[in-house]
Amino acid sequence: MDALSAEERPLVLVVDDEDYMRFLVEESLDQAGFDVIEAANGEEGLKLFQERRPNVVLMDVMMPGMDGFETCAELRKSPGGVHVPVLMITGLEDVDSINSAYSAGATDFIAKPINYELLGHRVRYLLRASSAINQLINSERRLADAQRIARMGYWDWDAEQDAVHISPQVYRIIGIPEDEVITSFDQFLSWVHENDRMQVREWFSEASTLGGQTSITHRSNAPGGSESYIRQQVEAVCEGDKVLQLYGTLQDITELHEAEARIHKLAYFDSLTGLPNRELFKERVEFSVDVACRHGRQMALLFLDLNKFKRINDTLGHRIGDLLLISTAKRLSQCMRSSDVVTREQSMNSDRSENLARLGGDEFTVLLSEIDRSEDAGRVAKRIIDTLSQPVVLEGHEVFTTPSVGIAVYPADGDTAEELTKNADMAMYYAKRNSKNLYQFYNQSMNESALRRLTVENNLRKALERDEMTLVYQPQLNVLTGQVSGMEALLRWDSAELGNLSPEDFIPLAEETGLIIPIGEWVLRTACTQAKIWRDKGYGFERIAVNVSAVQFAENDFTPLVRKVLEETGLEPGALELEVTESILMQDADQAVETLNHLKNLGVNIAIDDFGTGYSSLSYLKQFPIDRLKIDKAFVRDVDSDADDAAIAMAVIAMAGSMNLKVIAEGVENDEQLNFLKDKRCDEIQGFLLSKPISSADMDTYLHSLDVSNWDSAKIVEGHFEKLSSVNEVK
Ligand code: C2E
Ligand code: CA
Ligand code: CA
Repeated sequence: MDALSAEERPLVLVVDDEDYMRFLVEESLDQAGFDVIEAANGEEGLKLFQERRPNVVLMDVMMPGMDGFETCAELRKSPGGVHVPVLMITGLEDVDSINSAYSAGATDFIAKPINYELLGHRVRYLLRASSAINQLINSERRLADAQRIARMGYWDWDAEQDAVHISPQVYRIIGIPEDEVITSFDQFLSWVHENDRMQVREWFSEASTLGGQTSITHRSNAPGGSESYIRQQVEAVCEGDKVLQLYGTLQDITELHEAEARIHKLAYFDSLTGLPNRELFKERVEFSVDVACRHGRQMALLFLDLNKFKRINDTLGHRIGDLLLISTAKRLSQCMRSSDVVTREQSMNSDRSENLARLGGDEFTVLLSEIDRSEDAGRVAKRIIDTLSQPVVLEGHEVFTTPSVGIAVYPADGDTAEELTKNADMAMYYAKRNSKNLYQFYNQSMNESALRRLTVENNLRKALERDEMTLVYQPQLNVLTGQVSGMEALLRWDSAELGNLSPEDFIPLAEETGLIIPIGEWVLRTACTQAKIWRDKGYGFERIAVNVSAVQFAENDFTPLVRKVLEETGLEPGALELEVTESILMQDADQAVETLNHLKNLGVNIAIDDFGTGYSSLSYLKQFPIDRLKIDKAFVRDVDSDADDAAIAMAVIAMAGSMNLKVIAEGVENDEQLNFLKDKRCDEIQGFLLSKPISSADMDTYLHSLDVSNWDSAKIVEGHFEKLSSVNEVK
């Protein structure tokens, strides 16, 4: 029932069978400020109650039919009737009828004869008391609801008597049966998680001696219940220095705690592999650096990634890529767990997968927080490489990969997490470039050469627009006819800032940065333009050879580019030869066959450069539409003295013959090499013996001189030497 405001006139229902009684009651209540409705019997009273919902009911006990007790009992069961104050008017002031009135649910009773002057006051007090009770009931209910929703309970403890009072919600939160009576503080503590009990006890005793307000979070384990997280807050009531009572609230924060744990996990762990992420790893490294510093010890940081991971991801799909990363994380953890290398760490008995991290992509790090010698780190790296190099089967695919590992050691290679990580990363980069060594210790010079790379890269970006690139040409000789059959265009870079750089110094960088694309296009266009000029002059060479990088070759629009350049320069396609390396064919054979077919359809020639350095077998080569093999100069060098090199050169020549391929040997520097190759029926040669690569102007002079000569073919080779050695050498 709602509380009434001062101005409102409360509504009173009077149930009495006697008309004059009702009349008198109504008169007096009306004067006292009440509105009155009347009913002449029980049934009518109940009906009217439902219709009007009065604030209070006056009920005569003695009525024909349904008497007052019965009517009151019915009223209590009817909607809205539970809390309405009911004043019973008893005729007899005997104990029995008073008892009957209360057990029927009456709030109070009044005996006849009624003192009409006081009736108004009586009713008013009754209303006031019942509204106070109603408010109490409501607020208790609200409090209980709030506590239930907040999963919060209340308790208090009387210090003098060591008596505990606990709200029902507390029982529910800690999961103990409500009939288990908790009376003492020790009992109260018994459901606190045993590992937290000491702490909670101390907290309590502090709170109960110092007073004030404090809080604590601890675990609880109820009998049979699962572990939950409880937050307690307590406030002391003191008299002087003495604490009399403690009031406490207790809240179940398990969900909050779990959410926090999840957030922590998201913030500090990699969701794919479950390993710590960069953030957590950094904290751990920093901690380890501190410890190592204090004890004057060494530690190491390993940085690794998977070679060709991007390729696996691109060809087999991201799902397999993800699975490979997961498997890598697992294998790394196993590697660390079975560590017998770093003995001290084993005795630490910690979960060493904590010392791993995935920084992102295929980059992983390993922290070896205590090592005796830096070689220990090398041994771990070796074992990681051995483990990760084992093939794994992922959804039916057998996947092969190897890691590259870089190692930085504290304190030699840095004393912050950042520096150690950066240097280990750089060492890994070197490991990757030098495929023989899959792991690499960091050293100072790496930074210097990294700086150098950066300078070279910056200059390389501007090289074309600054006109710093040129092509030089090295003639190729047909040893049977004695004629210059062609020439190879080779790139030179004369940098304003860095001086002359060898292609070997800048081509790999150009490939990594993608700059090889515009540079390669420039080379192709310049070479074709030049060749066209010479052929228009009537110089009788067959072709010009241009080197093609793997990065260019993999570009989708490489073939269209070649077609476009041929059209623009007007050079006939048959006069162009593209030199591609064996490794291009081996990386993605199907793709290579397709591209080569497109190029062959244009009418250009294809030569395999540096042949013999890869591992192509004869049958393997058969699928590629190629015209020429170029024996690598490494085999030519000792061809007349080293039996193995000689055997390889002979095999290549024989093999090419059987496949109808032409063979050219590069790097021919002396007569012995020439004679050997000639003897074995190698078609062509190229090398310093004939000429170093020369400028276009020198080449022009040279081609001109050739054209007007008319040598006896047997002597031509020697004749060329004379001609060429008179031409200025170009490095
Ligand atoms: P490569 O294609 O194997 O070129 C042959 C290299 O051997 C050239 O080095 C040439 O000067 C050198 N050489 C020629 N005759 C002899 C000899 O008798 N003895 C010795 N020891 N060496 C000889 P270069 O010009 O320094 O080029 C090095 C590499 O750079 C080339 O090897 C090629 O892979 C690459 N390269 C050069 N120009 C280009 C280009 O325009 N594009 C691309 N993608 N790569 C190029
Ligand atoms: Ca070449
Ligand atoms: Ca070569």
